[in-house]
Amino acid sequence: MQTVTTIAEVRAFAEEARAGGGAVGFVPTMGYLHEGHASLMAAARAECDRVVASVFVNPLQFGAGEDLGAYPRDIERDTALAAAAGVDLLFVPGAAEMYPGAVVTSVRVAEITDRFEGATRPGHFAGVATVVAKLFAIVGPCSAYFGEKDWQQVCVVRRMAADLSLPVRVVACPTSREPDGLARSSRNVYLTDDERSAAPVLRRALQAGADLVAAGVRDAARVEARVAEAVATEPLVVLDYVAAVSADTLAPLDPLVGEIRLLVAARVGRPRLLDNIGLTVPA
Ligand code: AMP
Repeated sequence: MQTVTTIAEVRAFAEEARAGGGAVGFVPTMGYLHEGHASLMAAARAECDRVVASVFVNPLQFGAGEDLGAYPRDIERDTALAAAAGVDLLFVPGAAEMYPGAVVTSVRVAEITDRFEGATRPGHFAGVATVVAKLFAIVGPCSAYFGEKDWQQVCVVRRMAADLSLPVRVVACPTSREPDGLARSSRNVYLTDDERSAAPVLRRALQAGADLVAAGVRDAARVEARVAEAVATEPLVVLDYVAAVSADTLAPLDPLVGEIRLLVAARVGRPRLLDNIGLTVPA
C-alpha cells in the first residue's frame, strides 16, 4: 500500500487504474479506523480492481464547540489497518491541500438534511456534502462505500450524487457491531466503562421497536415510544431523537409501510451515538 498526501497523486493513480480497464473503489473516512471501516474496505476490495481510501478529519463538518480538535487520531495504526484491509492507495491530505484558501463554495442538500443530525448539528451536512463532492471529483468515476451506521449521511450522499450526476456508484454497507451489539464508532473511545456498558441499549431499543412492527404495529408514534421507553431504562443514555421514517427520504410515514428506517441518537456521557435499523413492511 502506498500513502500519498496530494490530490495530483490520487488523480494519477485512479486515472491509470481506469485506463487499464480497472474499476476503482473508494472509502472516505476521518480515520481512527476500526473494523467498521475495514468492512467497507473489504467490500471495495471484493468488488473493485483498485481500492483508494482517505483519512481526513474534515473541519467543515464540525460545528463550533464540537470535537474537531479532540477527534481521535492515530495515522500509524490507520495505515496498518488500511493495508491489512486491502487498500492500495491511502490519501492523507493536510487541511491546506484540501482547502488552500477560504471555502466560498459549498454543496447543500436540502430537505433530507432538515431533521435529525442536520437539525442537531447545523452546517454538518453541508460540510459532509462539500468534502465528499470534492473527494469524488478527485478520485473520479468509482464505487464509493459508506456505512449504514450513518444512515442519514448515506441518504444525503446518494441524493447529492444523483442530483449532480456524479459518476459515482454509492454503496451502503451494513453496520459493524461489537459482540454486545454496540455499533462500532471512532467516538466510542470517549465512553467511560459505565457508559460503555450502558451504550448497547441503543441496539436493543431499536430491536424492540422492530419487534413491534413485526408484530403488526403500523403507528410510527407507538413504535418510537417503545424505543424511547427501552432507552430510558439506562439513565446514562440520554435520548436525543427516535424516528420511524421512510428509508429513502427520511419523511414521516403513517402508516408504517414499505422501506422503513428506525433512527436513534443519544448522548452517552461525552459523545453522541447514532444507530438505526432497516425494516421492510409489504403493502
Ligand atoms: P467516519 O470515519 O466516522 O467518518 O466514517 C467513515 C465511514 O465509515 C462512513 O461511511 C461511516 O458510515 C462508516 N462507518 C463508521 N462506523 C461504521 C460501522 N460501525 N459499520 C459500518 N460502517 C461504519
